[in-house]
Amino acid sequence: MSAALPVTRALFDEVMVPNYAPAPIIPVRGQGSRVWDQDDREYVDFAGGIAVSSLGHCHPALVNALTEQAGKLWHLSNVMTNEPALRLAKQLVDNTFADKVYFANSGAEANEAALKLARRWALEKFGEHKQDIISFGKSFHGRTFFTVTVGGQAAYSDGFGPKPAAVLHAEFNNLDSLKALISDNTCAVIMEPVQGEGGIIPATAEFIQGVRELCNQHNALLIFDEVQTGVGRSGKLYAYMHTPVVPDILTSAKSLGGGFPIGAMLTTTEIASHLKVGTHGSTYGGNPLGCAVAYAAIDTINQPAVLDGVLAKEALFRAELEKINAKYHVFSAVRGQGLLLGAALNEQYKGRSRDFLLAAAAEGLFVLMAGYDVVRFAPSLVIPDADIIEGMARFDRAVAKVVQG
Ligand SMILES: *Cc1c(COP(=O)(O)O)cnc(C)c1O
Repeated sequence: MSAALPVTRALFDEVMVPNYAPAPIIPVRGQGSRVWDQDDREYVDFAGGIAVSSLGHCHPALVNALTEQAGKLWHLSNVMTNEPALRLAKQLVDNTFADKVYFANSGAEANEAALKLARRWALEKFGEHKQDIISFGKSFHGRTFFTVTVGGQAAYSDGFGPKPAAVLHAEFNNLDSLKALISDNTCAVIMEPVQGEGGIIPATAEFIQGVRELCNQHNALLIFDEVQTGVGRSGKLYAYMHTPVVPDILTSAKSLGGGFPIGAMLTTTEIASHLKVGTHGSTYGGNPLGCAVAYAAIDTINQPAVLDGVLAKEALFRAELEKINAKYHVFSAVRGQGLLLGAALNEQYKGRSRDFLLAAAAEGLFVLMAGYDVVRFAPSLVIPDADIIEGMARFDRAVAKVVQG
């Protein structure tokens, strides 16, 4: 088979497992917050590869980090350590609550490590009774069998045989429902500071603080899944930094690599000591290419000008969405934090987020869904204001089309 094989969307249905339903177009290149497809049609990108392309497409700092490392050393495995991994770990430790870092290749893997660590910590410190993991309805923590079982949508974990046991679900933003489930048998509570896939639902300040207090009362670890909220997306390096609460374990991925697959689990020295030699691992975790790129991403993003810029761009997004809503009356609320925003559809348009996504694509704009009732925006953290204005002009036309039927 030659490299000149004509590649079309039809080929997807021929050769790919049918678990995805990708758009009809095939993008071939990107620059900043613009993307071009096979026919050289140009799009404004408000999707960011699902909150991943934190510095847009082909940011020079990331291209330089990747190509420089690509000419030096790609892979060793964890039989040896490497310079980029140690530099990145030191950078994460210096800039967060954490003392120790474990590297994985995705958000699910970072959470898998966090959950296994919590179980092992509880077993060694308290004994076999302390196994319960509590998460929240509508939460999303990844697609491995453990993480998808912990996630708040049974539909994603049903149909694969017996699930990992001792996993309980409370209601998000409802402390009483957590109180009813948490006990001295609880080893960990895992939550997203802003639920992403579940519909862009921020945890209230009281809820976050209440969860921390309940965990303290029952000697349970608090795990913050910051896979979607992390690395500047909230306007701070991690969303927990907006609160007085500090988690025991934090997971990061998505924006961390700016498009290069990498995940990380951060924790304290005491908790980390329970992942002894041989208890967990990954062939690729901490590989030099991913770590070199992630270091450059954090180095670029964790600057006052960029983080303040996220908040300024959030304000611009909200103002533009309000203008559109004043014209067409389609949203009941715009919610979220920083550049992770959701426009919740009102009663009249509930269930139709996909129609908005398709209409936007037809106008040359990428947006996301967060369930069928919410249009989600997770653009580059450095998207130029002019691209926000142009994207919103396209979104205005898309919304008009949906409203006109
Ligand atoms: C996307 C996501 C994950 C899973 O990350 P993958 O890299 O797809 O495995 C886990 N948690 C949250 C909050 C996410 O948004």
